[in-house]
Amino acid sequence: MDFLPFTRPDIDEETIAGVVEVLRSGWITSGPQVKAFEAALSERLGGRTVRSFSSGTAALEVALRLAGVGPGDEVITTPLTWVATANVVLAVGARPVFVDIDPVTRNIDLDLVEAAITPRTRAMIPVDLAGLPVDRDRLYEIARRHRLRVVEDAAQAMGATWRGQPIGSTGDFVALSFHANKNITSIEGGALVLPADADVGRCERYRLQGVTRLPDGEMDVDLLGGKSNLTDVAARVGLGQLARLDAFNSRRRELADRYLAAFDRSLGCELPQPTQEGNWHMFQVVLPVDRLAGGRPAFLRAMAARQIGVGVHYPPVHLFTLYRDMGWKRGDFPHAERVGSGTVTLPLFPAMTGDDVVRVCAAAAEAIAELSRT
Ligand SMILES: *Cc1c(COP(=O)(O)O)cnc(C)c1O
Repeated sequence: MDFLPFTRPDIDEETIAGVVEVLRSGWITSGPQVKAFEAALSERLGGRTVRSFSSGTAALEVALRLAGVGPGDEVITTPLTWVATANVVLAVGARPVFVDIDPVTRNIDLDLVEAAITPRTRAMIPVDLAGLPVDRDRLYEIARRHRLRVVEDAAQAMGATWRGQPIGSTGDFVALSFHANKNITSIEGGALVLPADADVGRCERYRLQGVTRLPDGEMDVDLLGGKSNLTDVAARVGLGQLARLDAFNSRRRELADRYLAAFDRSLGCELPQPTQEGNWHMFQVVLPVDRLAGGRPAFLRAMAARQIGVGVHYPPVHLFTLYRDMGWKRGDFPHAERVGSGTVTLPLFPAMTGDDVVRVCAAAAEAIAELSRT
């Protein structure tokens, strides 16, 4: 039986041909394809201004700089996320302030956010884990009341909606990722939706060495920028993918529904929330790890033995060595720790079949039975 990975990108022949054209065009780094990709993203996101980046991480970091977050500031976020979310806070010299998750949505618990706000709090970074949107109404109500900036880490939420509006079409800063594992990819890449056109100039300067091109052909540098522009080759891949976003996401929804129908509820796993607004970036179940001999690693091995790839997204950020060394410890965020230590990401990608889902469910049942016996 073929190995079934937990995800796999789907690049069509038209896109491959388009990439070949770009390669032959004589212009391979940022140029017309980047402009076209940014325009297409903007069109999907209610006409808002969008700038592309070489990664979602770079988009998040530039958003924090544009929001004026720096040394002495605190930024509220979730510990149950890809480590990039918290790393960018450290990168700009600020301090992440973690708030535990709601165990049902697995996103930041908005009931706990206000207690974490101090006079130093400057911004919040909500994360739409697995593409399930954080409650934008409550989020922005808190932000307004406490005058906080918001940098939405919507890296996993491309195509998800809030009250029917696409994530990214409203709000403050919104960062997207087009990493190979995301719902659409540009191989590596990301984008930042800007709340104000006044930010565009500084956004572009942070993206490329702080350089401004002057009308007379000279240049100036007035701030310390990085190097995080997207290439035209990558942008062409992104354009081909963006055209398929809706088809990809509706296929993901069908497969997720299939999982929700087929997964054996008596196994003691916690299943994800059904959602109309999410984009089913991942289908994650929390294993009954305490009852499994060998815990999650044994489950991963048992699934691999059945030719099924399973992902781990994510161990809680505050328990990584870098963060422990800064003072966080086990017990700080019990829900994030429990979910983070038991979660597994089952295969879900548009080219999968319904039979694949049934096969994964059967393998998970066998694996859990096997490990519960020993
Ligand atoms: C993928 C991801 C990022 C970072 O995106 P890259 O393009 O890999 O830099 C940030 N946050 C979350 C939640 C992600 O899933």
